Formats: sequence, structure tokens, C-alpha cells
Amino acid sequence: MTAPQHFDPPLRTQLLIDGVWCAGTAGRCLDVINPSTEAVIAQVDMADKADVDRAVQAAARAFATWKNTSGAQRGALLRAIARGIQARHERLAALQSLNNGKPLAEAEIDVGDVVATFDYYAGLAEQLDTSGVSEVDLPSADFRAWIRREPAGVAALIVPWNFPMVTTAWKLAPALAAGCTVVLKPSEITPLPELELAAIALEAGLPPGVLNVLTGTGTDVGAPLAAHPTVAKVSFTGSTAVGIQVMKTAADTVKGVGLELGGKSSIVVFADADLDLAVDLVMGGGFFNAGQMCSATSRVLVQKPIAATLLERLARRAEELCVGDPFAPDVQMGPITNRMQYERVLRAIAEGRRSGARIVAGGDAVAGPGYFIRPTIFSDVPIDSALWREEIFGPVLCVSTFETETDAIESANDTRYGLVASVVTGDAERGARMTAALEAGVVWVNTPQVIFPQASWGGYKQSSLGRELGPFGLAAFQEIKQVIRPA
Ligand code: NAD
Repeated sequence: MTAPQHFDPPLRTQLLIDGVWCAGTAGRCLDVINPSTEAVIAQVDMADKADVDRAVQAAARAFATWKNTSGAQRGALLRAIARGIQARHERLAALQSLNNGKPLAEAEIDVGDVVATFDYYAGLAEQLDTSGVSEVDLPSADFRAWIRREPAGVAALIVPWNFPMVTTAWKLAPALAAGCTVVLKPSEITPLPELELAAIALEAGLPPGVLNVLTGTGTDVGAPLAAHPTVAKVSFTGSTAVGIQVMKTAADTVKGVGLELGGKSSIVVFADADLDLAVDLVMGGGFFNAGQMCSATSRVLVQKPIAATLLERLARRAEELCVGDPFAPDVQMGPITNRMQYERVLRAIAEGRRSGARIVAGGDAVAGPGYFIRPTIFSDVPIDSALWREEIFGPVLCVSTFETETDAIESANDTRYGLVASVVTGDAERGARMTAALEAGVVWVNTPQVIFPQASWGGYKQSSLGRELGPFGLAAFQEIKQVIRPA
């Protein structure tokens, strides 16, 4: 397959406010770029503070009715959205690859994940008709008490560009299931998949104002959304630096905040590991989505006896990895999604070289056009270097060695982040000990980075505040009300 030149029906490029596609108040547009070619794919309307206010008011009006719909009604709509996504599976995957640059096979996984997330939260919405009000067992014969789970109100959802639609679905599906109405701000870099998703939601019958979508920058849209007094809850996925800003802004109106932020996670490979499996897991954790994953296991901790062998095999696999056009059938890694990030990654590699770390694979850009960087592996990385400590968010792995299990735990936990961790070992008991000792919200033992919407997502320390997915994802959009009456 080659990148589609024209989409039929044409791509959505406007704001969605109160069920109507419209231009931004200021009449400005932003260019959406294909990272493989650097060509402009589309021009999208830009919202500003006035549009934020219009969208929030529309969401607040819609909330008055939407909050009183039954769980069954909301569940039916979520299922209809899931079927709509399935029906446009190919188009959505193509849009992901075109706008984000990920290989088509990875984009297809994303679309499947979005469908699974809407289906899962449809089920939770339906359950709310019975579980939304539950009686509390009291130590008193004089009173009866109930807990009601109610929708929080208007939710602002702010998302990044690395998994367009997926990070959105993890917020949007539970927010709608809970009975919240939404103002969604996609990344200004990858707005196209989310606009398509919004069109599908409208076609599925979502009432006007329940979902509003504002494309634009963090300054023009994200910050005013986080500050808006009518917004009850901000759910943000992005960098730790911006997440801190969002939390500070939201503090002024004491609104609920959920944060999914950066990471600098480890994969720990023990000498008793199956080496073939270890190589696969390290490669996946480092180079899937060109390493642009909050969950990238970019720090590879290897037990000394197998370090040389593993490094040699990783270097060979990295050099063999097919980098190029995400629509080409054999391509395993696409470009970096945008110029700013591309330059940031190249700067991090240059700094890594200066820090004394040794390059064993890659280390440079592929000649343009497009933001392609070769899969890069550093060894002998100084543990006080930025290379080892800061999130790079690109196809760069840093390898270091350890002697004992205790050393491995200490090194893996020695970070301000705590999103995920992977462990590769042939010893089940060691796997269990490591699972308990690692300060991370997800631990994968001898498995790739599989994520089920039924489980949980989020991390320790500066990687997250709260949890997404599973029942936690729904609870994030609910208020708890206690009701008490004489018996
Ligand atoms: P970013 O923080 O620059 O932007 C994220 C979103 O916030 C964008 O929509 C942006 O326009 C908006 N924004 C920017 N400034 C804002 C402000 N002042 N107020 C409100 N909104 C603002 O992040 P990015 O570069 O788009 O994404 C990469 C980052 O996202 C990485 O750090 C990555 O680890 C993180 N991420 C985390 C998860 C997770 O689940 N923990 C998932 C994906 C990405």
C-alpha cells in the first residue's frame, strides 16, 4: 500500500463545537505535516480562548441531559462508536501512519486497541445501571446509607501525538461511559485521526455538545481549558513539564486532575533469561513506534555474564531493522513524528556521544526528506548523564550492566519516573521478587508490552497522577456522593 493522496469522504479539518463543524474564531489554520515526506497533508482550523469558552458552554449545556441517560443508553452509543471505528479501520490506520509516521501494522494495532477500549467501557457503562448506586453496610440499625457514583461534569481531555486516538480513547470512552461531556484537545501535530474519530462518534448518534473537539496549540487551547472554571476534570497525557503546568493551573479552581506523563523505564535482563526472547523484548521496548513511547524501556540493564553477547545481538538486529516509508510492507520503523522532536533526539544523541557513552548501532539521521533516525544503541552509559536519566522519546537505547539482583533493583528504581518496567528471567521466583521491588505502574515479566483495557495504566512518581483503563479509568470521571436516611 502507498500513502493515500486523497481521502473519500474528505478529511475533517474543522473544530467540532455543539455538534457543528466550524472554523476557529480567529480564522487561523495550522499545517499538518507528513513526517515521512515533510509535505503538508492538510490545514486544520485553530481554536483559541474564545472557542474554548464556546465549547465548554456547549459541553455544560449537553451535560444537563447526558448525565441523566441510562448506562444502557451510553453503552449502546459506545458500542456504536466501536462498530463505526471497525467499519473505517483501514482509513483510520492509514491516517495514523500518514500523520504520525508509524508503520501500518502498528497503526492497525492502535485501531484495534481503540475498538477494544470503547467496547470495554460500553460494558462498564451498562453495569452502572445496577452498580451506580450501592448500599453501604452500616454498624447501626437507625440509618441506611448509599454510595452514588455520579458523572464529574465537563471533562477536558488533552492528548499528545505519539499514539493519536489511543491516548484519546483511554480518556474519551470512560468519560462518556461515566456520563461526562467532553472537550477534547488533540495534539496540534496529529489532529487528523482524532477529527475522524469525532466524525464517527457523531455518525453513531452522540448528541450535540457531548463531544467537542478543539484543534490548536497548548497555549491557545490547552492552558485555557485547564483554567476554565466550568471544567470539572482535566485528564492530560503529555510531558511531565507540561503536566506540572496543567496541575498548577487546575489548582486555581480546584478541579480534578489526571496526569499521564513521561518515563525513563528499564528492561532488566538476567543471565538466566531466554536470550532470543530478551533480544525481541529489548528491541520492541526500544524501537516500537520509533521509541516514541512513554513506556519505552530505553534503559537496558543486563547482568554481566551475558552483557557482551546480548549487546552484540542487539547491535546486529538494530542495524538490520528496516527504517522507511510506513506504508511499505517490510518497514519496521517509521520517522520521528515531527521536526521539533527529531531535532531533540539528534541533540540527545550528540550529547550522549559527548558524555563518553559508546555507540554500538546507529547514531545518526537517515538522509531526508523525512524525519528518519537510525535505531541507536549506546553502551557504557554514565549513570549521571542526561542520556541515562532524561526521557529522549526516540529510537535510542542505553545499555548498562549489573552484578546482582539488588543492584538491578537499585538501578531500575533510581529515576524520578516510574511508569513501567520489564523483566526477562528464566526464574519465576526472581520474576515475582522483581515485580514486588520495582517502582513502576506496570511490570511485564517475559512478555512484550501488551496492554488490555480491562487492566490499568499509569505509573509511580513523576510519571502519573491517578490511573487510566480498567475500573480506575471510569472512577477518574466520577464523583462520589453519600446518601444517608433513617432506616
Ligand atoms: P506535550 O506535553 O508537549 O503536549 C501534550 C499536549 O499538551 C498537547 O496537546 C499540547 O498541545 C498540550 N499542551 C502544551 N502546553 C500546554 C499547556 N501549557 N497547558 C495545557 N496543554 C498544553 O507532550 P508531547 O510532546 O505532545 O508528547 C510527548 C510526551 O507525552 C512524552 O513525555 C511522553 O512520555 C508523554 N506521554 C505519556 C503517556 C502516558 O501514558 N504516561 C502516553 C503518551 C505520551
